[in-house]
Formats: sequence, C-alpha cells, structure tokens
Amino acid sequence: MEGSFEEKMEMMKDMSKEEMMKRLEELKGICKNYCGECPSYTGTGETELVFCATGSSSIIKEEKGCLCPNCPVTEMMSLRWEYYCTRGSGREQAGME
Ligand code: SF4
Ligand code: SF4
Repeated sequence: MEGSFEEKMEMMKDMSKEEMMKRLEELKGICKNYCGECPSYTGTGETELVFCATGSSSIIKEEKGCLCPNCPVTEMMSLRWEYYCTRGSGREQAGME
C-alpha cells in the first residue's frame, strides 16, 4: 500500500469502532513476534502489544533495543519511528496528537 503514515491515518478515519478493534487484534498477532520478543519488553511483565497504535506502555521504562523496524506493521502502515512503548504511538511521534 502506497502513501505516508499520515495519509494512511486519514484513510482510516472513517473506520467503525468494530473494524478498528478487529484490525487491532490482527496487528497483535504480528506484534507479539516483535514487541513480544524484544529486549525492552521481555521480563518486564508487560502483556499489552501494538504500542505503535495505542501509545506508551505503563510498565516498560528502559529502552534496551527495539524490533519495530523489522516488524511488517512498520512497512504496512509506513511507520517511521521506533520505541513506541516508551516514546508514544505513531500518531504521537508524528505530532498528530
Ligand atoms: S515498541 Fe519497540 S522497544 Fe517497545 S516493546 Fe515494541 S519492539 Fe520493543
Ligand atoms: S511496529 Fe512495533 S509496536 Fe507496532 S506492531 Fe510492530 S512491533 Fe508492535
């Protein structure tokens, strides 16, 4: 899918809450192989995922490496940041909110 992260966010703005929740569940299935295996995440007790969409973790405080650049969601959504668990969601890091 072509386009910047900001353009993709714009295209998704009319999605229903149900569609959004379904999409989030799909992304979790991918994220667990990246966030779930990353050195900043493992051993912290965190169980949440997809910080790129939902924002910072309340548990992860130390940046010990980030696997987001390798995660397919990065390319899918044209994300261009990392450490969403400590630095905030894509929208936050893009300055959109
Ligand atoms: S956002 Fe990056 S640093 Fe944080 S848990 Fe996910 S892969 Fe690890
Ligand atoms: S980009 Fe990072 S936070 Fe987002 S789904 Fe992938 S691993 Fe998880």
